[in-house]
Amino acid sequence: MPKTYCPNCDAVVSIDNPRVGGMVTCRECGARLEIVSSSPFEVDFPLEEDEWEDEWEDEWEWEDEEEG
Ligand SMILES: [Zn+2]
Repeated sequence: MPKTYCPNCDAVVSIDNPRVGGMVTCRECGARLEIVSSSPFEVDFPLEEDEWEDEWEDEWEWEDEEEG
């Protein structure tokens, strides 16, 4: 049985007849993984059109303090 490793938790993921584009669920962490290659068997996180959260924060506050 082809097997590979979960990209999320590194547990062994195996499936009888992997088909590219199919989904497999990791038994260990429950992550849904997309089969990106059947030979060799490889899985990856599915590309979801979810929100890609921006981690750019641009909130500098400048205060003018004049002491006099
Ligand atoms: Zn996992």
